[in-house]
Amino acid sequence: MNIVRPADELLDQPFWRHLAAGQLHLNACEACGAFRHPPGPCCPKCRHIGEHWAPVSGRATLQSYTTVRHPVHDRLTSAVPYVVTLVRLAEGPRMISGIPPGERYDLKVGLELECKVISYDARFALPFFVPVAQVQP
Ligand SMILES: [Zn+2]
Repeated sequence: MNIVRPADELLDQPFWRHLAAGQLHLNACEACGAFRHPPGPCCPKCRHIGEHWAPVSGRATLQSYTTVRHPVHDRLTSAVPYVVTLVRLAEGPRMISGIPPGERYDLKVGLELECKVISYDARFALPFFVPVAQVQP
């Protein structure tokens, strides 16, 4: 599948490096520990300058979603239709993501999700979200 890779930005290089290793890490404040996404140089809660990267649970709640049926980029022509999601991570930040290509789920706002990192090559992976496995009674 063709994929559109993000621009190489200095602040989010650790985000992509951890994903390439199969892990979801977020930028966090060195002083108060609050997670933030996208990463930034200053904490939006306490204004401290100083950050580190830490793993997050990968748990999230679906806040919104849409199905893209018309490609917004030439490289995505073979990818449509695909689902774009807005999720609220358990640690607080929101993230725009999607469900894994080719997978179908009965989505509804409020659905509990978990992160599934999909690798495209040794240096690039993307985080997707899938419904938390339901425990059978
Ligand atoms: Zn802070």
